[in-house]
Amino acid sequence: MSEEVTILDKTFVKYIRDEEINAAVAHVAAQINHDYQDEPPLILITLNGAIVFAVDLLKQLSINARITCVKLSSYQGTESTNKINQLIGLSDDVRGKRVLIVEDIVDTGRTYQHLWNMLHEAGVKEVRIATMTLKPEAYKLDLPVHYVGFSIPNKFVIGRGLDYDGYGRQLPDIYQLKTEGNGR
Ligand code: 5GP
Repeated sequence: MSEEVTILDKTFVKYIRDEEINAAVAHVAAQINHDYQDEPPLILITLNGAIVFAVDLLKQLSINARITCVKLSSYQGTESTNKINQLIGLSDDVRGKRVLIVEDIVDTGRTYQHLWNMLHEAGVKEVRIATMTLKPEAYKLDLPVHYVGFSIPNKFVIGRGLDYDGYGRQLPDIYQLKTEGNGR
């Protein structure tokens, strides 16, 4: 796979390789298998971005978890908007359950906060989150982020499920938006 990809008007530079991501996913899966062996969670996948990470992760889980999805959107192009749109809502009864959110990326944490509130209003027993990537410099919440594949700088990334205007999700590596600082 090339070191750079161009999508629409933007160029992205390879940032984290496929093999490194696979190793991080395996590490996260091992932690989840360990922590949930006595009481498996309901796994809540956030569409669309988390689909690739979720598939990679689920294949390595040995716990007997139920799986469901919600669809939210807050990004337009490479910018986060303050408003979170819920496009597909929660269909499962979560009362008294442990829920493990699976995310592609936690940026400001607004989406996580939205889900956390929604799940607590619905009566969950416990909420945790597993994310492929976390941007610690952008993260604004006090809520813990329990399982993290990679902590990354506050720059826009694509690949491995992450998109730029709907494109780039299929890339097996993670790419960072090319700027003066990271261009080669
Ligand atoms: P938050 O609500 O934490 O600010 O942002 C979470 C959502 O914003 C993610 O699920 C993702 O859809 C989008 N997002 C945040 N940062 C990036 C990024 O660097 N690249 C892409 N493709 N999406 C991002």
